[in-house]
Amino acid sequence: MSLRQSYLIENTNLQQQNIEMHKKNKKLKKRVKTLIEVNREYEKELQQWKEKCLCLEKHIKEQHEQYEEPCDNCGVILGEDVPIMCYSNEIGGDETLCSECYYDCEMWKTDENPDNEDEIEEAKRNEDAKRNE
Ligand SMILES: [Zn+2]
Repeated sequence: MSLRQSYLIENTNLQQQNIEMHKKNKKLKKRVKTLIEVNREYEKELQQWKEKCLCLEKHIKEQHEQYEEPCDNCGVILGEDVPIMCYSNEIGGDETLCSECYYDCEMWKTDENPDNEDEIEEAKRNEDAKRNE
């Protein structure tokens, strides 16, 4: 085989390889394109979920804040551990108080809320009992 002949054979082989590589490259490009589209869909879905989560978080926070109202007198957070008293007075207006403020600061004495009748009666009895000690 002459040098030229072997060169031609080599060249043909390389060209053939080049064509194969081109085909493979085309297929891979197509696959990458598909994957990018799939990824875009996933990202869209993820964004929707994130928005849903934010909405839920906000909702939970709002409910929490509604529940955790502060005492109008001392600012302590009312809730499970601190009993709430709804104070009402024609002149002083309505107030949401913790039980400590309500009793210790003697707010019950001016309370006109009919819902607290029993509590006011009890506070009166307690005060009388203390006086008679
Ligand atoms: Zn208070």
